[in-house]
Amino acid sequence: MSFSLPVNAEISHSNNNILKMNFIDVGQGDAIFIQSPKGKNILIDSGPYKTKQKVISYLKAQGVKTLDLVIVTHPHGDHIGAMPDILQTFKVDRFYMADMDETSPEVIRLQKAIFDHGIFVLEPQLDEAIELEKNLIFKFIAPTPVTYESINEYSNVIKVIYKKNRFLLMGDSGEQSEAEMMNRGINLRADVIKLSHHGGRTGNTLPFLKAVKPQVAVISTAGPKNYPSEEVINRLKYLKVPIYRTDLHGTIIIQSNGKKIWVSFE
Ligand SMILES: [Zn+2]
Repeated sequence: MSFSLPVNAEISHSNNNILKMNFIDVGQGDAIFIQSPKGKNILIDSGPYKTKQKVISYLKAQGVKTLDLVIVTHPHGDHIGAMPDILQTFKVDRFYMADMDETSPEVIRLQKAIFDHGIFVLEPQLDEAIELEKNLIFKFIAPTPVTYESINEYSNVIKVIYKKNRFLLMGDSGEQSEAEMMNRGINLRADVIKLSHHGGRTGNTLPFLKAVKPQVAVISTAGPKNYPSEEVINRLKYLKVPIYRTDLHGTIIIQSNGKKIWVSFE
């Protein structure tokens, strides 16, 4: 449960006890690429259309040919824009995406790609836990089956559990979803939180951040015009949580041996 910086250079993916989480700098958007200790490849959101080549090159540079697991948190362009090209480039084993009544050009393009490549779409279920390999679990902890006003609130919130380390990937979920997670009484403690909505103040409330008690906060954002919100930054400062931002640090890499985490960036 400790963390050090800069990263220990001797920790590399060739050491097969290491989970490597890459928050790829895609400007305004989210693209999280995870390599499991046993070499499985996981992608959570693709980032926007604009940076598709960057994400594809990044994955290829890590030797990816197959994505064992892909999760779409919610159908907004900054999270799915590059997904059709990802499906075009890599073989995908398991593809999770909620069925939503959204008909933006990005969604239509993605649906076409899903059809063209014969992808079977799995619907995330609340509290469903995907045990991708021994000691590595991806769990959907939000949303609950209620009606929200904003599409962002429908974001799949994913808890990644690797031995004693926990990562909370918030998508663009908001205050309402946070309140529900707290009300459900689930264990929200995590070593790392990828803040919701690019560090916006639609979520990332103080009570929620207190419940998570992270060692590290990651913000995926183009900054500084809209996001992250000054208020959210102040909450993290108040809680003495170190902040890593893709707009300031570039691609952020967090490695875990199941007990400790290491942070590095490009
Ligand atoms: Zn977003």
